[in-house]
Order: sequence, then structure tokens, then C-alpha cells
Amino acid sequence: MKTPAVRALGILIAASAAAVAAPDPNWLDHDRDRPQPALVDPGTFSSQEQPGRPPSDAVVLFDGRDISQWVAMDGSPTKWVVKNGLMECVPGSGYVRTLESFGDCQLHVEWASPTPPHGDSQGRGNSGVFFGYDRYECQVLDSYQNKSYADGSAAAIYGQYPPLVNVMLPPGQWEVYDIIWTAPRFDEDGKLLKKAHETVFHNGVLVQNNVALTGPTGWIGRAPYKAHPERLPIALQDHGNPVRFRNIWVRELGNPRHKEFMLPDALLATYAGDYGQDPRNTVHVRRLADGLLTMNLGGADIVLHAMSMTRFYCPTTDVQCEFNFSGPKKEMDVSVGDEHVMRMERLEP
Ligand code: MG
Repeated sequence: MKTPAVRALGILIAASAAAVAAPDPNWLDHDRDRPQPALVDPGTFSSQEQPGRPPSDAVVLFDGRDISQWVAMDGSPTKWVVKNGLMECVPGSGYVRTLESFGDCQLHVEWASPTPPHGDSQGRGNSGVFFGYDRYECQVLDSYQNKSYADGSAAAIYGQYPPLVNVMLPPGQWEVYDIIWTAPRFDEDGKLLKKAHETVFHNGVLVQNNVALTGPTGWIGRAPYKAHPERLPIALQDHGNPVRFRNIWVRELGNPRHKEFMLPDALLATYAGDYGQDPRNTVHVRRLADGLLTMNLGGADIVLHAMSMTRFYCPTTDVQCEFNFSGPKKEMDVSVGDEHVMRMERLEP
């Protein structure tokens, strides 16, 4: 173990080099005090007949029965259907997204295009796996003997990077994506610090090797990056084809302090408002984009992220607030660390 001074220097070096992967300077080579990696049961691989078992530390997003982790993009219940152990896109019902938000992660998704196939080019078995809510698409398409533009084929980073090879199975068979997602980073002023990066294995074959995204993906034209939270929902596209999904799980990387959620728009709308007993001393809770709230407290506007359906936390100070709307009164409790600071009632607009 190193001395505190050396450790502090190490932290400084690590902070200045945060964007570059390098051995942690806080530990000596072969340091016997260094914590052991956590034990994880790796689960099992899937076959065409049967989905595998996720690793023991994964968040299971779809297990073949329970669709509760998925909602429409506004957070209302999805119209996608579950049947026979799979989840199917209902054309025209819109994208689905996770209720929970994820930053850097490993995502496993299995999907099957409709059989017999209908349509051609981008019209055959089109869906997509999106990170950053609806911003960054890894294409899902029936690319089996179906020619389309290369940067729109299966496992393309849409409009930016074709897959290195085409490893599609015939329509109706289960395709497997294993994706490593590194979210883009922005500074407090919204300036891009680091681009998003994505690695994709399709049916176990490397097809995207840590490519740097130019910005959000889109049809015709490449939009520039625009600042957004590091952690956001993962979404699946409705492109008018009844594409099926099974065995979806994610492992978030980097040990975040709290789980994070993008709550339904309708629920966020009820939380926004003015709180307090005294109109001269009112706390204003307002909505921001991407499911965030902001609250004026102690002379500052602090940004709040949902850590449950009722509780929010601030990533930069140790402030949390809890909305208690289940009783006759609509109340908000504010705490700093372990200390309960105040309870305020919502003022009717
Ligand atoms: Mg698509």
C-alpha cells in the first residue's frame, strides 16, 4: 500500500488522465492489499432452442415473461406484446425504452426477424438498439441475402459505420448482439469532452471495434453532439416490422452511486411545482429535459436525478428529496446526508 501523499498524487494523475485507460496508480504492481474482483457466475450461452442464463450480476431487462422494465418513450405502458417467451414489436406502437437509465455498460440482446421475410432493403426486419434514449442506434435488420446500404445493415452504427462482416443467420433464427457501450462525456457547459464509443459482437463475431461515434445517428446527415446526461434509457426501435426479442440483460460498468431512472412524463409533471408554507420562501421544482428535475435550494439551482419512483438525488451535492403524494397532502422531504432538513407541502397552482 502506498503512503497517503503518494496516493493523493496518484489520484491527481488519475483525474487528469481520466479519459485514458491506464493501470490505477494508487496500487503497486502485484499489491497484495488490492481488493479481489467480485465473484460472478457467468451463466450459460443461448442455443436457437433455448435462451441462456444471464451472468449473476446482470440486470435482467427481459426474461421471456416480464415486460415491466420496458415502457413507451413517454414512460406510459408499452403496447409491445409478450408471447411464447419473447417480446414482439407491434408496428405503429412506437419505440420502447427501459425505465432504468444506464451509462457505460455491457448489453446482451437477442432478436429474430420475421419469417417468412417481407419487404426488402431497410423494409425487412428493421428495428434498432439505441443508447442515450433515442440518440445512438446499432441497427437491427434482416441482412440475410437482403442488400441495403452498408452503413444501414445489421449491426451497423447507423449511418456511420458498417459492420466489419455480415454474420446474419436466416430469417427467424435468433441473432445475438453483445455490445460494449461507452457514453459520451460533456463538461458543465455542455462542451464535448469525449465521444461515445461502441464495440459490437454479432453472433460472437466482432463487427464494431470500439468505434468513435460522430454524434447521434440518423437518416441522412450527421448531427453534432448535444450535451445530455451520461446515464439514459436503452431503447428498441419500432420501424414497422414485428421484430422479436428475448434474453435481454445489461451490466452497468463503473460502480455508480445509485440506480437511476427516467420516470414517466406524467409522473414528473405531478412533481413539478412550488413547495412551502410561506409564499416568500418557496422552493420551485421544475422539469428539465431527459427526465431530470431542478430545484432552487440554498441560492443555487441543483439538478435532481430519479433513484426510484419517488426519490431523487443530486450527483454533485449530498442532497436528496422524496415526494410523498400517497396521503391526503402532496409533500416533499429534503435531506442532506443523513439529516432531514425540511418537509414542504405542494402549493396548488
Ligand atoms: Mg433501425
